Amino acid sequence: MMTREAILAAETGAQRKDPGGRLRIALAYPNTYAVGMSNLAIHTLYRLFNARPDVVCERVFLPDAPTTLLRTLESGTALADMDVVAFSVAFELDYPNVIRMLRLGSVAPFAAARTGPRVIAGGPAMSYNPEPLADVFDAILVGEGEHSVDALVDALRADTPDALAAVPGVYVPAHGTVPTPRLVVGDLNAVPVATTIYTPHTEFGKMALVEVGRGCPYGCRFCVASHVYAPARWRSFDALLPVIEEGLRHRTRIGLLGASVTDHPDILPLCEAILTRGGEPSPASMRADALTPELLALLARGGVRTVTLAPEAGTEALRRSVGKRISDDALLAAAARARAAGIGALKLYFILGLPDETPDDRAAIPALARRLAHETGLRVSLGCSILVPKPGTPFARIAMPPEAAMRRALDDLRRALRGVTQLTHESPRWAYWQAVLARGGREVTPALATIADGADTPGAWAAAFRAHGLDADAYALRALPPDLPLPWAHIGAGRCLSPPER
Ligand code: SF4
Repeated sequence: MMTREAILAAETGAQRKDPGGRLRIALAYPNTYAVGMSNLAIHTLYRLFNARPDVVCERVFLPDAPTTLLRTLESGTALADMDVVAFSVAFELDYPNVIRMLRLGSVAPFAAARTGPRVIAGGPAMSYNPEPLADVFDAILVGEGEHSVDALVDALRADTPDALAAVPGVYVPAHGTVPTPRLVVGDLNAVPVATTIYTPHTEFGKMALVEVGRGCPYGCRFCVASHVYAPARWRSFDALLPVIEEGLRHRTRIGLLGASVTDHPDILPLCEAILTRGGEPSPASMRADALTPELLALLARGGVRTVTLAPEAGTEALRRSVGKRISDDALLAAAARARAAGIGALKLYFILGLPDETPDDRAAIPALARRLAHETGLRVSLGCSILVPKPGTPFARIAMPPEAAMRRALDDLRRALRGVTQLTHESPRWAYWQAVLARGGREVTPALATIADGADTPGAWAAAFRAHGLDADAYALRALPPDLPLPWAHIGAGRCLSPPER
């Protein structure tokens, strides 16, 4: 484990402020430093909070070794001595870590019993169903909060629950399940989202990350990026250029982030601008139709060696039924163009467990991989995830397939691909727990508190649910009837442009 001093010494861009008279905010990510610092929300909130002269914002992460008292990274202040702990929560499997971190910081995890710092949250998972952690937080910012930071800080300084509840997009769980619209940033150009603190000690340590857009126009029915972050929006070339130039002062490789980056209307000028400044563009997501010979040539010039495409399903019929409109021929043509541009490898992403998926749909996955490898000469590798029905998407109520069926499907796939390509995949067991928490209500919080006390194994999670009389299967494996009220029904009811429309 690295010491605080060693972590800080390896960073560029962290801020040190005298806490005197300022609101002290601990910006918390419920996973380790390496994971949390890969998340641009942490970078952006750190910059926005610290832009306020009356705030000092420091970071705190889940320790990766036994720790007796959790302290902030910058000044080593104990969590309990901060005024506010603000969590950014992106993934369901991190929920027990929220409680672990509060306990490690000597902060009572349940809001009703807490006398210390106020504990608030935001982030993607809190923006579609915050209920599993609703009793933990004093307030939850639902949706895209960049424009609400000032109002939130003012309300935190006022220090009354009513002041917090008056901030647009803020849900105060103690007030009950009050309908809360989801905040949407109307003009992304007004808020750059990019790496603020550079460190080699994250997954993307060799890159400067720049968000080029948000949402996705294609509307695949399982996709949070498209449904929870609607509508699709881009930052303009003129707004992105200075952010990219700042990134190039720190790193050669510029990671362009967004749900369908190669669809950016100025993707060619953006890549050219990076290349002419000595950098290397690296789009995080690619769509087959958008991979033109011109774009592929620029990416190859910038050192991109692998094209990544996500057919999601083996057959065109299943793709159509989940909203993914891409044909085998379009995939083949894009792969051939990549090969012609000098790119040597293709990574394909699929989802197992889509509704109405048949054995033929599954058998079509290795057949498609073989066809792409044989007809283009590219080295093909496969990544598979398991469908998790997510709140806020059209699949929110569907049943997840049983874990055993997903294991068999993965075994079949591995056998069919032997000697042809590599297969990496998500754990079906952890996908199941993701679904349980994605669709849980406030009744699951005591089980999360028990999980936070013990080992992070699926067996321990199952025991905790049983101990609290909860049927985990009912959350994940059951189709939720259309008339069953959903725990998150009050969240995202309507949208609210941020800053609020006047
Ligand atoms: S194309 Fe990709 S990002 Fe867009 S909706 Fe479909 S899965 Fe989501």
